[in-house]
Amino acid sequence: MGFKAKARKHRKDTGEDQSKTKSSKKEGELSCGVKGCDNFADKSHGGRSLSVDDAIEMWGSGGYTMRKGRVRICKSCYRKWKKENKNEDMY
Ligand SMILES: [Zn+2]
Repeated sequence: MGFKAKARKHRKDTGEDQSKTKSSKKEGELSCGVKGCDNFADKSHGGRSLSVDDAIEMWGSGGYTMRKGRVRICKSCYRKWKKENKNEDMY
């Protein structure tokens, strides 16, 4: 606790990035696990995590980055996957 708030405050104090239009681009912390995709996979960005099996089916082995046994993907990648895998189990 406190680390982020401090960093943000520091950034503000130095005036870094202040002139840039930042509001349109939200920053996330988790990057999408799909190779070639640089969206964010944070929950707050609508990101999801898939099992490795699901990721292999969709992007092939080596087409994704695994993290702790799951593959974190961004919202748009999840949508693509969802389209390919029309699962009935919606909940
Ligand atoms: Zn993605």
